[in-house]
Amino acid sequence: MAELYGGIRFIKGIGEQRAKNLEKLGIKTLYDLISYFPRDYEDRSQTTALTNVIDGEYFSVSAIVATTPQNHLVRRGMELLKFDITDGTARCGVTFFNQSYLKSQIRKGETYRFYGKFSRSGNFITLNSPIFEKEGKELEMVGRIMPVYRLTAGISQKILVRAIRQGLDAISDGLPETIPESTRRKYGLIDVVAAYNLIHDPKSEEDIVRARTRLIFEELFVLSCALQQRKYAGTSQPGFKLQPRDPRDFYVKLPFEPTDAQKRVVSEAFADMSSGKVMNRLVQGDVGSGKTAVAAACCWFTACAGLQSAFMAPTEILAEQHYATLSRMLEPFGIRCSLLTGHMTKKQKNEVYESLKSGETDVVIGTHALLSEGVEFRYLGLVVADEQHRFGVRQRTELAQKGDDPHVLIMSATPIPRTLALIIYGELDVSVIDQLPPGRQKIDTFAVKEDMRERINKFIARLVGEGRQVYIICPAIDENEMMYFAAVESYYKNLSENVFPNLRVACLHGRMKAAEKEEIMRAFKDGETDILVSTTVIEVGVDVPNAALIVVENADRFGLSQLHQLRGRVGRGEHKSYCVLFNQSDTQESAQRLAALCKLSDGFKISEVDLTMRGPGDFFGSRQSGLPATKLAELSCDTNTLYAAQEEAKLLFESDPELKKFENRALAEKIRQFDDAMLN
Ligand code: ADP
Ligand code: MG
Repeated sequence: MAELYGGIRFIKGIGEQRAKNLEKLGIKTLYDLISYFPRDYEDRSQTTALTNVIDGEYFSVSAIVATTPQNHLVRRGMELLKFDITDGTARCGVTFFNQSYLKSQIRKGETYRFYGKFSRSGNFITLNSPIFEKEGKELEMVGRIMPVYRLTAGISQKILVRAIRQGLDAISDGLPETIPESTRRKYGLIDVVAAYNLIHDPKSEEDIVRARTRLIFEELFVLSCALQQRKYAGTSQPGFKLQPRDPRDFYVKLPFEPTDAQKRVVSEAFADMSSGKVMNRLVQGDVGSGKTAVAAACCWFTACAGLQSAFMAPTEILAEQHYATLSRMLEPFGIRCSLLTGHMTKKQKNEVYESLKSGETDVVIGTHALLSEGVEFRYLGLVVADEQHRFGVRQRTELAQKGDDPHVLIMSATPIPRTLALIIYGELDVSVIDQLPPGRQKIDTFAVKEDMRERINKFIARLVGEGRQVYIICPAIDENEMMYFAAVESYYKNLSENVFPNLRVACLHGRMKAAEKEEIMRAFKDGETDILVSTTVIEVGVDVPNAALIVVENADRFGLSQLHQLRGRVGRGEHKSYCVLFNQSDTQESAQRLAALCKLSDGFKISEVDLTMRGPGDFFGSRQSGLPATKLAELSCDTNTLYAAQEEAKLLFESDPELKKFENRALAEKIRQFDDAMLN
């Protein structure tokens, strides 16, 4: 019997060259081949009477060849093969171009099945280059629902159909079941052999649905199991076992009472760190939910155990902001904090390096500078990464490697539905701060059209007159980055010269040097500018409590979650704050989306709306979503299946955590294959 994960050269018609071509489609093994699912189907199962064919549409007809096929040389390099067919209801002229060799395959008086696109003008019917097969034997390419595969040079539909059929025949008895029987019964899923056969060779629409349902479940189930397994491996790794402590000892010196959600997340993190296993936890919380205090509690817990913490922020401004906040929270306990950024002089840096090495500094807050070679710790016990989507997994790991398997806490302000979080952050445990501190004002949000321009400009001027500051965001209007920056600059020029010549307007975008950006941001933070025109670079948690209005141009081009993030830049102080969304699109869909944002203030609810309306690819704007590629499943549409698959994966791992049971061996193998593919 053929080897499921073995090569496909044993298949008749697959030689060296075709095998190479198939590799371009991602087909290397027999499993790849039979998992190469059709992108569509063509129903060639029904025949139509010739008299009923419609101009410009595809039909299957069963007809007799009525005239002897004749070759006609039209000009050099263009030879036609022509003959007529009839089925008794009408007559049709058939033409092939430069395929004169077909002449010997088509005989007058014989009946064939023809499939192709018909042309018709009254009773004058023609058909060019149809697919055809002789009636009377089993039909291969016509007379059935045909799978349509994505192709590449040198690989035709026919080659794929034949190769996949042979592949299925070679393996069909040995195709192992990957979904436990109890699960299949619970969700009414057909078995693996039926599914693979029907997806490639359905007899009806229903067959396609049944096969797809089963295979989508399988795909999401394998994905869920792979993540379960990774998580199991991650959480079973030994780590520093910290002495349990009552977090109230920390809370008493905080300037505020933590919310219940903050307390819960702190307890979850403390439990991880006292368990003897390494912590790998993601804390998700809406903007302003108070993630910093949670991180500070963890640094305190770590320092109490005599270990050091490293807190990594994506920009210098954020590092400075966190340094100020953490120092205020931690120094009352005698915990020593230091700041490390690329900006500092060599001498300053060396001092920090020294104090980290000697253990004099307990908590270091910094940028990527923390990854520099000079940074060595005495006892690194905890790594905190803020706004993690700006860091790759690699950088997080790099920092962790400066210690001996320290605990890791990641904080993300991009709320995403739990199911997706489980996929994107795979091996991490997820905590959610699902509550804002009391007394937060709602940010009044308005979606407006161009006709409100005048009024909004007056509103901006009024707020600035009251001493407030304003953000204006321009979206990526063009794929081309250069064009985008140019557009932002000319917007800025117009605004500062023509609209608000008397106000202090600044401009910030991604093409500026890091130092220049930091300087402009700092000036805005210090109140030296009134209006900041910017690209989305200000998205991440910079705190300017005096900013009370954010205006977003072309808001229809953003994802809702991203808009929600942007909106979180205001309302950080005591001032009543506003968000104005210019909707430059006329579609009903964008009006609906923006209306949802005006109504909702809970980041998680917003992310669910976003997910159903736009799909996961858009979640982080143009940034990579981090989601694995799936063949059939759509992670945004098949969420119910995803929930079910995750639930079943969990149950399975509870009963067989290492997939050692005989009946789970095929699944274990498939997960291994999946993992290999994901890591590549
Ligand atoms: P984020 O989750 O966006 O990082 P921060 O940690 O920056 O939020 O907190 C936002 C603001 O809320 C800060 O000014 C912080 O001092 C304040 N804050 C945090 N927790 C509480 C609380 N429980 N009660 C009152 N204010 C709080
Ligand atoms: Mg923050």
